[in-house]
Amino acid sequence: MAHEHAQPATAEGFDGPRLLRAIRERARALGLSQIAVSDLQLGDTEQHLARWLEQGMHGTMDYMARHGMARARPAELLPGTLRVITARLDYLPEQAPPGWRALEWQRLGQPQQAVVSVYARGRDYHRVLRQRLARLAEFIAQQARPRVLRAFTDSAPVPEVALGARAGLGWRGKHSLLLHRDAGSMFFLGEIYTDLELPVEGPIEAHCGTCTRCLDMCPTRAITQPYVVDARRCISYLTIELDGPIPEDLRAPMGNRVYGCDDCQLACPWNRWARRSPLPDFLPRNDLDRASLLDLWAWDETAFEQRTEGSAIRRIGYARWRRNLAVALGNARRALAPDHGLQGPIEQALRAALPPADALVAEHLRWALAQAPGGDADVPAAAAGPNT
Ligand code: SF4
Ligand code: SF4
Repeated sequence: MAHEHAQPATAEGFDGPRLLRAIRERARALGLSQIAVSDLQLGDTEQHLARWLEQGMHGTMDYMARHGMARARPAELLPGTLRVITARLDYLPEQAPPGWRALEWQRLGQPQQAVVSVYARGRDYHRVLRQRLARLAEFIAQQARPRVLRAFTDSAPVPEVALGARAGLGWRGKHSLLLHRDAGSMFFLGEIYTDLELPVEGPIEAHCGTCTRCLDMCPTRAITQPYVVDARRCISYLTIELDGPIPEDLRAPMGNRVYGCDDCQLACPWNRWARRSPLPDFLPRNDLDRASLLDLWAWDETAFEQRTEGSAIRRIGYARWRRNLAVALGNARRALAPDHGLQGPIEQALRAALPPADALVAEHLRWALAQAPGGDADVPAAAAGPNT
């Protein structure tokens, strides 16, 4: 949504602080958790991005390379942009109990359970955030006379962590996500680009210190050094973005994670302060906070389409969904004792699915069937979780 107006935003009488107060008020009324404004001085964002792309760490996400440096230069994406309003939307469901992180670690340690990333258990966040940002942009357009005004939610090459950090919404953690002492990192970000010269507050101090928990707890060692995530090793990328076979050496460390991965965030001490969302949109659907692998394996394609209606999960499609579940079922075979009551049902489920499966899923099913029951017996428990 771009708005064109005859008069410049900076015309006489433009009162930035007053407008920002009004925008804040409106954002709160729309259910956004916080907003902050930045200029476009993004420091070494460009160099980091260039190095990351050069090293191929974006994997098959070709759009990342295609957009190139535009991702680090907001004014290239929307000429005339002078400020970016970044909005934070917390997504931890309201019903998450006080010890929610311990419960998540517990489920990660139960091989027969299916673990879907917390953010994806409810309604598709793109929709939830997009609507609110669009309304906020409409409000701004009514209040001022911007020549440039456009909202983005994960749909364009926007350096959201860099912008959020520059605006003072948090600092970039060593896991490369934005985090805040008072809000952890369980939130989405959305942006409004504009030429309105709203006042900026500037970045806040980083508080990772000597902590390395996210690096230590990453199951696939995807955080190759502080602030650098190699997407090719990251379970979020492997289960969501990657369209093809999952590299064999990364299948075992995926454990029972079937859509995304929260480990680096669960390990982060600041998520003790993660904020719950009052929005019902983020409440888990289809028991995705408690479903077993076999529960989800029982969904045929029609059930998948119906049950993931309005959910981010739907975008990966049925084949990737089955591929991910097949890997997790193979890992469950290895992790459960040979005489565990679920060994038989898991093997039957995998075998029954082989004949109708397409080539991609069939290859993962064969891999799963080749995992020795109880084969992990000598390996220490993968996901006990840190002391938090
Ligand atoms: S999301 Fe999971 S795999 Fe990716 S960096 Fe974090 S802990 Fe590692
Ligand atoms: S786990 Fe530690 S190092 Fe990683 S982001 Fe959190 S505070 Fe920073």
